[in-house]
Amino acid sequence: MPGFEIFGDEERKEVNDVLSTGVLFRYGFDAKRNGNWKVKTFEENFANYTGAKYCLLTSSGTTALATAMAAAGIGFGDEVIVPPFTFVATIEGVLNGGAVPIFSEIDETLCLSADLIEEKITDRTRAIVVVHMCGSMADIERIKEIADKYNLILLEDACQATGAFHNGKSVGTYGVAGCFSFDSVKTITCGEGGAIITNSKEIYQRADQYHDHGHDHIGNDRGKENHPIIGINFRNTELNAAVGVAQLKKLPKILEIQRKNGNIIKEFLSKYKDITLRKIISDDSDTCTFVNFLLPTEEITRKVALELNQNGADGCFYWYDNNWHYIRKWEHILNMKYPMKIGQTMLDYFPDYSKVKLPLSDSIMSRTISMQVKLSWTEEELNNRLMAMERVFKLNNIN
Ligand SMILES: *Cc1c(COP(=O)(O)O)cnc(C)c1O
Repeated sequence: MPGFEIFGDEERKEVNDVLSTGVLFRYGFDAKRNGNWKVKTFEENFANYTGAKYCLLTSSGTTALATAMAAAGIGFGDEVIVPPFTFVATIEGVLNGGAVPIFSEIDETLCLSADLIEEKITDRTRAIVVVHMCGSMADIERIKEIADKYNLILLEDACQATGAFHNGKSVGTYGVAGCFSFDSVKTITCGEGGAIITNSKEIYQRADQYHDHGHDHIGNDRGKENHPIIGINFRNTELNAAVGVAQLKKLPKILEIQRKNGNIIKEFLSKYKDITLRKIISDDSDTCTFVNFLLPTEEITRKVALELNQNGADGCFYWYDNNWHYIRKWEHILNMKYPMKIGQTMLDYFPDYSKVKLPLSDSIMSRTISMQVKLSWTEEELNNRLMAMERVFKLNNIN
């Protein structure tokens, strides 16, 4: 996820536009800003790119999720179905409003299993947050059908899947809202930043108000604006958005290179009968930020991941052992280590997460390796990488 790989003159120029006026705030200062509205420009361009009616830039992907949850009215005691394989920020977004994450199994899409969501639905279920992990989309049409059938709010965490489309429709436009991240290691970056896209005017307005202290943004005088709801400050700045404006223009090129490199590795891996590629729903739905593959056993997967990293094919993630992306090692969540005081009434809503059993997800995650795809690879480097993989597979009797 290479936004950081391609920082260049285009980004510097956009940032200099902002530096030359000194207006860093996204609102007001009309006379002084010399026509520069970087946050607004990014929002318009990203709405255009995804085909969504509205886009709101926020300070991060995490705050985009928290804002979308608030805008959709999801909160205290509401159960929200989430996958156990995601960056922990998804769970933070749910917990932020006092809602209750309910973990449901993933399948070989590495995202929520459409087949197993219904088992988790109760009288308290309010929403599903589907996460499009590792650059590629979940089985989104089937998951949307389930959400519709049970009248649940569907939110999409598309933080890792910027640029994914399925049947011509952008990731993030299937649900009530889609959330994106532009932090420093995502497909495109603002340094820090996130976005919500939606086709609902009501959701957009609530999100817009919530992320800026409840301001209604009506009229041209911030000091006289009304505050129809309680909010918070999750705004982004002109400087960060300036970087994003330049990065967004590079997105088609980023995706082209990523897919070219990713497909060469996928093609190579598909020759091994012991290796299963992560299931995708369509070619366009895979942005190839990672190539994800499954091996036969946990033991061999852990060993192969280590050997690949040490022998010429680095950037291989074994998420099962890492403590950011899979529930198994989320000690702080398993033990509900809130820094602030929370009441027993609230605690009563939460299941004992340390007892949650997810055998299917364990079986998949313990056998999954994700190889990060770089834009900068030369043909020679890519060939060396394939040869390194071939050697490691051979030594481990993978055929
Ligand atoms: C990165 C990420 C987030 C959070 O984004 P930040 O901008 O870092 O706050 C949320 N969900 C997923 C799946 C992510 O990968």
